[in-house]
Amino acid sequence: MIVALAALLGLVFGSVLTALISRQAKGERWATGRSHCPKCRHPLAVWDLVPVLSYLVLDGKCRYCRGVIGASYPLLELATAALFALAAVIRLGPAAFGGVEAFLAPDWVLPLLRDWAAIVVLVQIFLYDLWFGYILDQVTLPAIAVFLLWNLALGVPLPMLLIGAAVGGGFFLLQYVISGGKWIGGGDIRLGALMGVLLGWPLVLVALFIAYLSGGAVGAVLLASKRKTVGSQIPFGTFLSAATVVVLFWGRAMLDWYLYGVL
Ligand SMILES: [Zn+2]
Repeated sequence: MIVALAALLGLVFGSVLTALISRQAKGERWATGRSHCPKCRHPLAVWDLVPVLSYLVLDGKCRYCRGVIGASYPLLELATAALFALAAVIRLGPAAFGGVEAFLAPDWVLPLLRDWAAIVVLVQIFLYDLWFGYILDQVTLPAIAVFLLWNLALGVPLPMLLIGAAVGGGFFLLQYVISGGKWIGGGDIRLGALMGVLLGWPLVLVALFIAYLSGGAVGAVLLASKRKTVGSQIPFGTFLSAATVVVLFWGRAMLDWYLYGVL
């Protein structure tokens, strides 16, 4: 039951995210005015905004101008829904599929809300960097403050969070200084600090490791298929945010397996 609620909530947030990102990209403010078709600018009605369903009903076209709406919109909504549901299953275990009795022992609520908030932020960073090649400070800076306080409220020791932020941010700051800002941008430093306060020490290291491994693998494939040249930028914020979600879900298990060989 909670897993279904989680998926529904994820759909809604996925839908809001697509609207926000397309607005941020045009330099519009966060939530001004009605949503409109990206092609013809026609304002959208409430029934045009129902996640996934409206896309299927309208066959991926705008109701007003019949312009093609990219499949990335419903895909992003579905992906966010899947991540929300997965977070619920990981936090609650089998109780995620049970009835309301899980609310009798609601110690999972704050951690799960934290996971969902983190998913929203990380999906935004993932997509924005993928599409536009930027990591927005207006996202990372507030998120650093929010997740630092949230994790403290959850009882994570402050030194773990501060060391995490120093390692995550410092890792990129060092590269920034060495390369004179050529390898990475300032946005990566802020994202590194965000990963640190979200995951804490030592899990931030696991996330960096996974990001470099997957980024290197994808980069090699793109190079081999001539989609990219050696000098061209790959959106590293995309890999960092994806790796952070993975570590948020399974980081502790991965670390235990690596250190002690037990799952
Ligand atoms: Zn249109």
